[in-house]
Amino acid sequence: MGRLIRDFNWEDTSLGAPAGWSQSLLTTLSIMLNSRFPMFLFWGPDLIQFYNDAYRPSLGSNGKHPKALGQRAEECWHEIWPVIKPVIDQVLKTGQPSWSENELIPIFRNNCLEDAFWTYSYSRVFDEPGKFGGVLSICTETTEAVQSHKNIQNAKNELEFAVEAADLGTWDFNPVTFKFIGNDRLREWFGITGDEEIGLDVALAATIEEDRERMAAAVAKALEKGSDGNYNIIYTIQDQEGNRRIVEATGRAKFDAEGKAYQFSGILQDVTEKQQLQMRKDEFISVASHELKTPITSLSASVQILQRLVKTESSSEKMATFVTKANNNLSKLTYLLDDLLNVTKIQQGQLAFNINRFDLVELIKDCCEHINPLQDYDFVFMGDETLMVYADYRRIDQVMVNLIGNAIKYSPRKKRIEITVIHDDETATVSVRDFGIGINSQKLPHLFDRYYRVDAFGHQFSGLGLGLYISAEIINRHNGKIGVESEVGNGSNFWFSIPLDDPSIA
Ligand code: ADP
Repeated sequence: MGRLIRDFNWEDTSLGAPAGWSQSLLTTLSIMLNSRFPMFLFWGPDLIQFYNDAYRPSLGSNGKHPKALGQRAEECWHEIWPVIKPVIDQVLKTGQPSWSENELIPIFRNNCLEDAFWTYSYSRVFDEPGKFGGVLSICTETTEAVQSHKNIQNAKNELEFAVEAADLGTWDFNPVTFKFIGNDRLREWFGITGDEEIGLDVALAATIEEDRERMAAAVAKALEKGSDGNYNIIYTIQDQEGNRRIVEATGRAKFDAEGKAYQFSGILQDVTEKQQLQMRKDEFISVASHELKTPITSLSASVQILQRLVKTESSSEKMATFVTKANNNLSKLTYLLDDLLNVTKIQQGQLAFNINRFDLVELIKDCCEHINPLQDYDFVFMGDETLMVYADYRRIDQVMVNLIGNAIKYSPRKKRIEITVIHDDETATVSVRDFGIGINSQKLPHLFDRYYRVDAFGHQFSGLGLGLYISAEIINRHNGKIGVESEVGNGSNFWFSIPLDDPSIA
């Protein structure tokens, strides 16, 4: 801009040649041209214009630059003259500087009239006595900052709208003070009036007694150093009138470099209806499976007698075939019914355990023979050849039947199944590896949930989605662990580990 000012033909303006310019104008120009802050100067009665390099970008391209240099302000700024003229007049008259923050002043640049926001101050510059002087505008364009602020506000509004539409409570917990803030809905659910922060003790007091300890433990676990910060819990709250509401809280804690939680926030959902529906479903399954148990048991007994009779009494071969078929189908029915009854027992905390010493490898081999009578699957055993454990034989057998049964069911084309048993000083680990259809990694976290099936709506594979749920419960009751690694198309590796000898198992 210094070069442009030097090269400009000032004689054609009311300021005349630079040789005649006052010291005051020269000093002001020198300050401007040496500053990296955007500045604009109006000088003399015609308000002839100067600006510096820092101001230059605000004029855009194909707009006022370089015509604005040496131009009369009124000519240059005709589109906003009604806005700035009174300000300039006021500053010249009173000598008091003006101050405007983030003001919308659209200007013509980049071939169009663009909305632009400015923070600026106009101040009077005095000249030698008797001379007019000028007005210096120190300004900065804040369009980007204002737009960002608007975008944030819009995003916030959208989020609020979604939270409102989804009927969600939101909370933001301070891990230092153990207090949190919540939206109106959450406050209403917890029966809290006023705007002040809510203490964890208040939330606990609104939680029914049976759930309090569990809820406090879940919060502590999410905030614990080294935890993954995840928080997901279903509990019941109660208002002053005794109305109960079952809620599901989901959230996550964030940790600083030292592993200290600094933020913990999430949502709260009313799941009362969903839970009640689930309870009614469970109740129905419990009643139905109990009712089915008696006729199926007596049917089983009759079929077994029939099976013996067709062997000893003379009867047609067809009869023997049908009796065998009936018996096989009855076994399948019994398995399904057992699963349903086991689920009911798990939920009522009545799954009985009977702990004994036995050889785990022997159990597994028996199980494979039983499950694969036609020998059409190729079982490969690896690791220990014998391993004594102290556990519930029938329940571990149930887990193996499920894992091997699944390995067969979900590997229709690959017949190889590898079973590995290994141990260390304290635990035995069994893995069942198949080379079948595999499982999408996103589905893995839900695999051990009740009624969960990866292909819930497909009918390619039969099942109730209970086997893994029951297996996980059995292994947990043995103080063990169960897990899976899998890849779509490359098969799955289901494993569990149990203590070799844990006297606390019941
Ligand atoms: P079910 O087999 O009766 O559906 P499970 O609880 O045993 O129920 O298994 C739950 C789901 O996990 C199955 O529906 C299936 O989608 C998936 N799954 C279990 N084992 C395997 C496996 N070996 N390979 C692929 N998918 C499996």
